[in-house]
Amino acid sequence: MRYKNLFRFIIPIVIVLAGSALYKANAWGFWAHQRINRLAVFSLPPEMIVFYKKNLEYITEHAVDPDKRRYAVAEEAPRHFIDLDHYVHERPYDILPHKWEDAVAERTEDTLNAYGIVPWHTQKVLWQLTKAFEERDQYKILHYSADLGHYVGDGHVPLHTSENYNGQMTNQKGIHGFWESRVPELFGDNYDFWVGKAQYIDNTREYVWKYILE
Ligand SMILES: [Zn+2]
Repeated sequence: MRYKNLFRFIIPIVIVLAGSALYKANAWGFWAHQRINRLAVFSLPPEMIVFYKKNLEYITEHAVDPDKRRYAVAEEAPRHFIDLDHYVHERPYDILPHKWEDAVAERTEDTLNAYGIVPWHTQKVLWQLTKAFEERDQYKILHYSADLGHYVGDGHVPLHTSENYNGQMTNQKGIHGFWESRVPELFGDNYDFWVGKAQYIDNTREYVWKYILE
């Protein structure tokens, strides 16, 4: 069940909390993004939870910054999705290069941006967060943690991995907002979000690709 996967947040060296454009609806509604980021804090190991609990409101509130940014930053839109069915005849896991530089060399940046870059961008944010930890920069740690929670959340939304992201090709227009905003808002209080403690992940790149594709 999809919701169960939400908290499989990536843990690089130290930690981690962890639409083709404006016309694409937000990934998860604001309610769900904020809930996901907030609850992720409680899955962290003891040595990390103190810092994150102190900043729980920041992590919660800023869970939706990447969506807000889409209205101001042109490059933001493709970071939230990937139209896997565009590549489906090529078996995306085997064929699409998992490393950004390789993907750009093979497909060009324009093509990748046209069909979404969430798996590659998630890796980038992960790297930025790891660097922020190394620099002990508290502001950046919080900023990238909140962002990472957002992109990881987006990567788990099935409607963010399809060209038919709003049911527009199958006469189901509006399903996007219904599925990711309305339904969680109505029933989310009864969901069981707890899926155990955050795990240490060795190969984060492959992990990101795996959860997006499964
Ligand atoms: Zn998003």
